[in-house]
Amino acid sequence: MAWDFETDPEYQKKLDWADEFVREEVEPLDYVFPHMQFTPLDDSARKIIDPLKDEVRRQGLWATHLGPELGGQGFGQLKLALLNEILGRSQWASNVFGTQAPDTGNAEIIAHYGTPEQKAKYLQPLLDGEMFSSYSMTEPHAGADPTMFKTRAFKDGDEWVINGWKYFSSNAKTASFLIVMVVTNPDVSPYKGMSMFLVPTDTPGVNIVRNVGLSGERLNEGSHALIHYEDVRVPEDALLGGEGQAFVIAQTRLGGGRIHHAMRTIGMAQKAIDMMCERALSRETQGSLLADKQFVQGYIADSYAQLVQFRLFVLYTAWEIDKYNDYKRVRKDIATAKVVMPTVLHDIAWRAMQVHGALGTTNEMPLFGMIHGAAVMGLADGPTEVHKVTVARQVLRDYRGTDAMWPTAWIPGKIDAAKAKFADLLELEVGNL
Ligand SMILES: Cc1cc2nc3c(=O)[nH]c(=O)nc-3n(C[C@H](O)[C@H](O)[C@H](O)COP(=O)(O)OP(=O)(O)OC[C@H]3O[C@@H](n4cnc5c(N)ncnc54)[C@H](O)[C@@H]3O)c2cc1C
Repeated sequence: MAWDFETDPEYQKKLDWADEFVREEVEPLDYVFPHMQFTPLDDSARKIIDPLKDEVRRQGLWATHLGPELGGQGFGQLKLALLNEILGRSQWASNVFGTQAPDTGNAEIIAHYGTPEQKAKYLQPLLDGEMFSSYSMTEPHAGADPTMFKTRAFKDGDEWVINGWKYFSSNAKTASFLIVMVVTNPDVSPYKGMSMFLVPTDTPGVNIVRNVGLSGERLNEGSHALIHYEDVRVPEDALLGGEGQAFVIAQTRLGGGRIHHAMRTIGMAQKAIDMMCERALSRETQGSLLADKQFVQGYIADSYAQLVQFRLFVLYTAWEIDKYNDYKRVRKDIATAKVVMPTVLHDIAWRAMQVHGALGTTNEMPLFGMIHGAAVMGLADGPTEVHKVTVARQVLRDYRGTDAMWPTAWIPGKIDAAKAKFADLLELEVGNL
């Protein structure tokens, strides 16, 4: 009987350490260096953050998103999930543990598809936490449908020349290199005619036109770049994987990235539940604690139920990835986690905000930010609608339509079939009466 919901005691010790370390040492960084986790560290920040990273290394928990076979020191996705749900509490935690998106996904595809030279140049510094990277796929006119991308690369001697526009390339402004998805052969299906390139950000012609901000950020001071690639020349060995491999590579990257977000979302939603429960047990109104009001009890129960289901599902999906070592095979469940994730975080954070009254809506509490984060999750790495289509298609694969006049579950037909199956016995019984 192999179903087992226990963590092995050795790893649990590490998780307990991580839990305390994140709460005591890492969460304070969110308040002294807010939203600066992708900014290269100056000397004073390094004095605080480098020792924390060293401590994580000493504990053997640094950059655990890649297993040893891919150059990392990870223990698989299930153990990563248990760690990531702790890291999800803090903006800075993934960075301090060397597992921040989008670098994790980018590292993963370089580990899978990179040449030894590309790994030395890009993967090792990424795994060492000494470099940031950006994934440059979405275009201003098309996001959810990558077959519509127009950014082109053509061969000129032993160089590729890239031209086009990319939008929402997160962290490009601090990244050392970009992974760019471009059309290399417009005459075949986009699934075979697009390729990925590793492009250093300081290559002439890589023009960051604007750094688009999310709601609440100042105009042009955000982290999501609009980039004009203008006659960007890169050598042949800038190609990642083979020519025409972009879709295959993107699936590897996005599969891992999506489930990692789901893991961290568990931690964020748990933090909202923690806040909701503390407030419910602290605030009195109309003669009793909020915790004694049935509406509030309903919020708590619904939130617990939603999170526990989501958590078990994410852990199960992580276990499947470890078991099959094939994102494609686990695609349905990764997409399902991606679909459910924004709703779980939104609902729980919204209830926690409501329980905090006016205070909950202010910029002195993190709750409204979580709701905004939930909205963003419904788009980043692909819109919810597209993932629902994936889930439905995969589910439908296990079914066949019927040519019969009535559905298979039509009760009169079932009765006739059951009577026919047991005809002999039924006749005997009737005979005995
Ligand atoms: C915070 C954040 C970070 C991001 N980071 C990156 C990054 O680093 N690199 C990168 O390349 N991109 C990034 N993106 C872009 C993201 O991948 C795209 O936003 C996403 O793929 C959707 O593309 P779009 O915004 O162009 O929406 P569109 O493709 O225009 O879709 C708009 C809407 O149309 C509907 N829709 C679309 N397709 C379907 C369908 N098949 N069926 C039903 N309805 C549909 C959905 O409601 C969808 O939200 C990021 C986005 C966000 C919000």
